[in-house]
Amino acid sequence: MKKSIKATVAPGTRKSMRSNRSRDTRPELALRRALWGAGLRGFRKNLRTLPGKPDIVFTKHKLCVFVHGCFWHGCAKCAERRNLRPATNRDYWQSKLHTNQRRDAIATESLQGAGWQVLVVWECEIKSSVGLAVSTISQALCLDQDASQIQSRRATPDGL
Ligand SMILES: [Zn+2]
Repeated sequence: MKKSIKATVAPGTRKSMRSNRSRDTRPELALRRALWGAGLRGFRKNLRTLPGKPDIVFTKHKLCVFVHGCFWHGCAKCAERRNLRPATNRDYWQSKLHTNQRRDAIATESLQGAGWQVLVVWECEIKSSVGLAVSTISQALCLDQDASQIQSRRATPDGL
């Protein structure tokens, strides 16, 4: 049964499915690297103690960032643009995706209820502009005015 599902899924979809299995997905790594480069370094990753195990957590600012794979979390943009959802076994996949989306919604709700700010960054957003994702996060951290300072500080070697 597993075999037949695999055989009917489009190559692009299969790729997103596979990338979801590893803990540090490629978009997540790209985002963390870009945050680091922009001087936004005070975060922890995959915080298990929080609902939904957010991928990137700025504890001091109470900001959680989820990096969502477009396929598994049902990115609306991608579902429209390319046909990410497999045509066969539609019921199976749809209920699976629906469960994921509900889980995401519940995690977001309980985080917000506990006073956290929650940001979702989609895989496709990171692919198209990781810089934009970084500036969204920096805005949420209220660091936007300081962004240029962070940049210029970066140009100076550490310890000076
Ligand atoms: Zn997407």
